[in-house]
Amino acid sequence: MDVDEHAEELASALGVDKAEVRSDLENLLSYSVPIDEAKQSIRRKHGGDGGGDATPTTKDVADVTPEDGNVTVTVRVLSVGQRSIQYQGEEQVIREGEFADETGTISYTAWEDFGFEPGDSITVGNAGVREWDGRPELNVGQSSTVAVETTPVEVPYEVGGDSDLVDLRSGDRGRNVEVRVLESEERVIDGRDGETAIRSGVVADETGRLPFTDWKARSELREGHDFRFEDVYVREFRGVPQVNLSEFTTVTPLARDVAVDDEAPRMGIAEAVGSGGLFDVELVGNVLEVRDGSGLIERCPECGRVLQNGQCRSHGDVEGEDDMRVKAIVDDGTGTVTAVLDRELTEELYGGTMEEAMTAARDAMDKEVVADEIRERIVGREYRVRGNLSVDDYGASVEASEFERATDDPGARATALLAEVRS
Ligand SMILES: [Zn+2]
Repeated sequence: MDVDEHAEELASALGVDKAEVRSDLENLLSYSVPIDEAKQSIRRKHGGDGGGDATPTTKDVADVTPEDGNVTVTVRVLSVGQRSIQYQGEEQVIREGEFADETGTISYTAWEDFGFEPGDSITVGNAGVREWDGRPELNVGQSSTVAVETTPVEVPYEVGGDSDLVDLRSGDRGRNVEVRVLESEERVIDGRDGETAIRSGVVADETGRLPFTDWKARSELREGHDFRFEDVYVREFRGVPQVNLSEFTTVTPLARDVAVDDEAPRMGIAEAVGSGGLFDVELVGNVLEVRDGSGLIERCPECGRVLQNGQCRSHGDVEGEDDMRVKAIVDDGTGTVTAVLDRELTEELYGGTMEEAMTAARDAMDKEVVADEIRERIVGREYRVRGNLSVDDYGASVEASEFERATDDPGARATALLAEVRS
């Protein structure tokens, strides 16, 4: 369903004006409120019960499913983050984070300040359940109750939200990280309140690096300085997770130096793809295939898309600009990704400049000789690829910043693999 259909359905169920419902919906969606959440809010606004009418049952966290309308849970508060959203023209502060019991963890959004803090043990009565990114989440609102438990809920999880960068995933909130700022620059963007200054760049810790955006443009976030950020949230931006600092984030200079590794974390391909998107990761695998559209290509001068038979998908018949790239399918036995190499990396693989490649293509009267040459060199060999990994409907791809023959001793790795298989 699109927004219009959702608005239609809601308006007729509530017996109210569709234009008003649609405008409220669009407003909520523009601040990343999930569609189910947005619809519940609008139902509440018009006197509905938010869509959950079953009597809440007491459940273990692991047993909560999106099909439960409402539940009651007894949990330990692992983290509490704050975020402000615009709702019906007004600024509203919501609290988000994770609850846990001994069976599992669950994310929540609290629409009011119930006063609980990380470490508290509480019983949340009549929490709404919604689905977000395929997982259940709790919605603690006006019709929910929060009671403090005097007996602590024991959980096998760390309380407080301290995290390593490598473990952060899109959707995380109320997290704390200790990082070094590697890159940082202030920019002016067209925000919801007109022109707004933000600061963005890259942060790193001992486990990896991630892009960040500070929506308050704190000037102290300079390159080479170390900080503890408390209460950050993580959102996907251009396919990879990004650390976000809000007005509620506290920034404290660190007394210690954060040891930053120049290497990217190395992961198995299946694990990396399963994460949904990673910034600066290293994968090692065999090149199975060099895909069509590699070697010498032509791009649309307007939009940069690769031309097919001289045609741009958006701009039709255009005078193409020459470029080189490689799209190589890399497999490590657990999964596959497409490594996408820019002109510079492609020239290195080819062993010649683009001008030389064009001369070779003219001599052979066939552009494909360049892609064939690259195929000859790399298919069946093992490569190390480093870059940003993103996943979409067409599969996983890595925008390569490095692409080199793997230097590991294959004999040693085969022995290790055999030992693993035999144990
Ligand atoms: Zn175009």
